[in-house]
Amino acid sequence: MLAAALPAAAAGAVPGGVAKVRVENGAQATLDGNRVLVMRESKGWVAIAGVPLSAAPGEKLSLQVRYPDQRFKQLEITVTRKKYPSQRLSVPRDQAELDPEQMKRYEQEREHLQEVLRTFSESPPASLAMREPVSGRRSGSFGSRRIINGEPRSPHSGMDIAADNGTPIAAANAGRVIDVGEYLFLGRTVILDHGQGLLSLYAHLSEVNAAPAETVAAGKIIGKVGTSGRATGPHLHFSIYLNTAAVDPAYFLGATP
Ligand SMILES: [Zn+2]
Repeated sequence: MLAAALPAAAAGAVPGGVAKVRVENGAQATLDGNRVLVMRESKGWVAIAGVPLSAAPGEKLSLQVRYPDQRFKQLEITVTRKKYPSQRLSVPRDQAELDPEQMKRYEQEREHLQEVLRTFSESPPASLAMREPVSGRRSGSFGSRRIINGEPRSPHSGMDIAADNGTPIAAANAGRVIDVGEYLFLGRTVILDHGQGLLSLYAHLSEVNAAPAETVAAGKIIGKVGTSGRATGPHLHFSIYLNTAAVDPAYFLGATP
């Protein structure tokens, strides 16, 4: 197996961050009932857990580790603080709320996407390093929260990369296409499974060039940049998930070009 380190040293047990916990060979780890990525690094075996954006500073997350010889260990991950920006906006009521039909569609889509995000395949990713899916200006808005008419919305679960309409989007890592859909907020979307719960999501596409169950190499073109769904201008919404938690893609991409 390949030794692979996170490209950015800044990762840590912050909300939306990545916590590394040393384990022994053969470990099977879970966090909140979700399997956690376990792989070999140059110095030994590690569990690489995504910390949910909803985790509170000081909160202790319990990583449950099981070994083939029935040994069981509970390891603690203490969440540390990271301040994400929030923005208060006032918008006309009819633009801020979904009508009952949209609400029904949104709920169904949310359930479907949660199911897709629980995908866990046993073979580990070849590498944790992701290549840039499109080059362009990256927003640092991961984790930021909008408070619309006094109501906090879900924090931003990805990175927005500005690029022209029609710009080809490359798979950030080798993987398998586990979802292709068109959603109310995300628009045309592709989700890839890179192994052991490491997933990447590409949204607001103008065109999809990937089919469900297809195996893709890193760099394979899977679609084109667009404005589908709720997007104010052409950009790629790029998310990375570990054990169903959205984590900051910046940790996986290395330095901003
Ligand atoms: Zn976005």
